[in-house]
Amino acid sequence: MATSTPTKRAAPSSTSQRPAKKGHWSQGLLESMNDPNLIVESDERLVIIKDKYPKARYHFLVIPKINVPNLKALKREQSELLRYMQDQCHLLASKYPHVEFRYGYHAIPSMSQLHLHMISQDFDSPCLKTKRHWNSFNTKYFLDSEDVIRCLEERGMVVTMTPIAGEKLLDQPLKCHKCIYSPQNMPKLKQHLYKHINN
Ligand code: AMP
Ligand code: ZN
Repeated sequence: MATSTPTKRAAPSSTSQRPAKKGHWSQGLLESMNDPNLIVESDERLVIIKDKYPKARYHFLVIPKINVPNLKALKREQSELLRYMQDQCHLLASKYPHVEFRYGYHAIPSMSQLHLHMISQDFDSPCLKTKRHWNSFNTKYFLDSEDVIRCLEERGMVVTMTPIAGEKLLDQPLKCHKCIYSPQNMPKLKQHLYKHINN
C-alpha cells in the first residue's frame, strides 16, 4: 500500500475483468522489479525489492518473474513457487539475525503482480501513517505466507475474502501487535511502539 495513496485501493486487474493500462499506478511493481536502486536479490525465478514506501525499518517485496497477477490466479502446482519465495525470504532474514519479520500477503492487494511482503515488526517508519496501513499488516487482512501455501496445497486455490470483509478489517479499532494497548489514534500508537523496540 503506497503512502502516496491515502486510502486502500484495489488494483483494477485484481477486481474486475479489465486489466489496468501499462503505466497505471497499480502496475508500478513491474517497473520497480527492474530498478537497480530497489533490487536486493534476483535469480531466474524471482526478484526481491525494497518496498518503495516501507511501513517498517525493513520492508521487502518478493515478486515472481513469471506473470501472476494475484493470489486468485494461482494454481495448485504453483504452491512450490510460493514455497520457494518464502524460502528466499528466510535466507534474506538470516542476514538480519536480530530482526523479527513476518511474511505474508495482503488479502486484497492494491498493486498488480503477486508480491509477498517481508516486513520487520518494529513498524518504525514515516511511511506508516494511517489506520488502514496498520490494520493491513496487523489483522487477518495480512495472510501468513505459510497459511496461503497450505490453502493452495489443500484446496487447489487461495481463499481470500470479500472486499466488504476486507474493508471491515482495515477499519477495525487500532490495537498494538505486542500488547493489549488500544490507542485512540496513529500518533499515540507510533509513540507506544517505541516501548517494544530494543534498538
Ligand atoms: P499491497 O498491494 O497492498 O499488498 O501493497 C503494495 C506494496 O507496494 C505497498 O507496501 C507499497 O508501499 C508498495 N509500493 C507501491 N508502489 C510501489 C512501487 N512503485 N515500487 C515498489 N513498491 C511499491
Ligand atoms: Zn504494545
